[in-house]
Amino acid sequence: MSPIAENLQEVKRRISEALQGDRRAITLVAVTKTHPAAMVREAHAAGQRDFGENYVQEAVAKIRDLAGLDATWHFIGTLQGNKAREVSEHFDWVHGVDRPRTAELLSRHRPAGKAPLSVCVQVNVSEEATKGGVKPGEALALARHVAALPGLAFRGLMGMASPSGDEAAIRAEFALLRRELEAIRAAGLEADTLSMGMTQDFEAALAEGATMLRIGTAIFGAREPRPARQGAA
Ligand SMILES: *Cc1c(COP(=O)(O)O)cnc(C)c1O
Repeated sequence: MSPIAENLQEVKRRISEALQGDRRAITLVAVTKTHPAAMVREAHAAGQRDFGENYVQEAVAKIRDLAGLDATWHFIGTLQGNKAREVSEHFDWVHGVDRPRTAELLSRHRPAGKAPLSVCVQVNVSEEATKGGVKPGEALALARHVAALPGLAFRGLMGMASPSGDEAAIRAEFALLRRELEAIRAAGLEADTLSMGMTQDFEAALAEGATMLRIGTAIFGAREPRPARQGAA
C-alpha cells in the first residue's frame, strides 16, 4: 500500500473510532494545497474523491491536469472577488463565503450547464481578527441570501477552531458552529453540512457534530512553504 493510502486508512480508522458507533455520514475532504497532482492521483487511486484547495491559480492548474478524474473539488481558501469567476467555473463547493457580494459573484459566474455551486457560509467562531467569516449571529442572514441565489445551493456552515490546543475552548467553538446551524434549520432553511475539523482537531469536531472534515497533513504529510511566485489566492 502507498504511504498516502495507509494514511487515509488510518484517518478513516480514527474517524470511525471518534464516531463511537454513531452512523452519520462523514465526508472527508483531502486537502491537497501545495501538493502536486501526482499526490492527488495517488489518493484517488486509494478511493478518495473529495479534494480541497486554497489557492486559485494552483488549484485551477491541478484541476485541469486531472480533468477526467471523477473528483469533487472544494475551494476552502480566502476568496477575493476578482477570483470568484474562476472559482465558480472550476469548483463544486466553496466553504469560505462570508459576504453577500462574494455570493452574488459566484452565482452570476456559475456556468449554466453545471449544477448550482454548493456553498458553506464561514463563521468566525474563534473571533480571531486574522480569520475570515461572519460573526456568530450573522450567519442566518447570509445563509438566506445564498439560498436565494440561482447559481448557488446553500449547504451549511464552515468554521475553524483557534489553534490554542485548549481542548475545552476548541470544543466550545465547534459547539457554537453547530448551534448556529441548528438555528438556521429552525428558521426553515435546508442545510446538511457542518464543515469543521482539520488534522489537529478533527476528533473534537466529530464529537460536536461535524459532517465534513478538511484534512491535509494527516494524509499527505507536512507542507512545504508556498513558492513566492504563486502570490495571493
Ligand atoms: C490547510 C487547511 C486545512 C487542512 O489543514 P491540515 O492541518 O493540514 O489538516 C483545512 N481547512 C482549511 C481552511 C485549510 O486552509
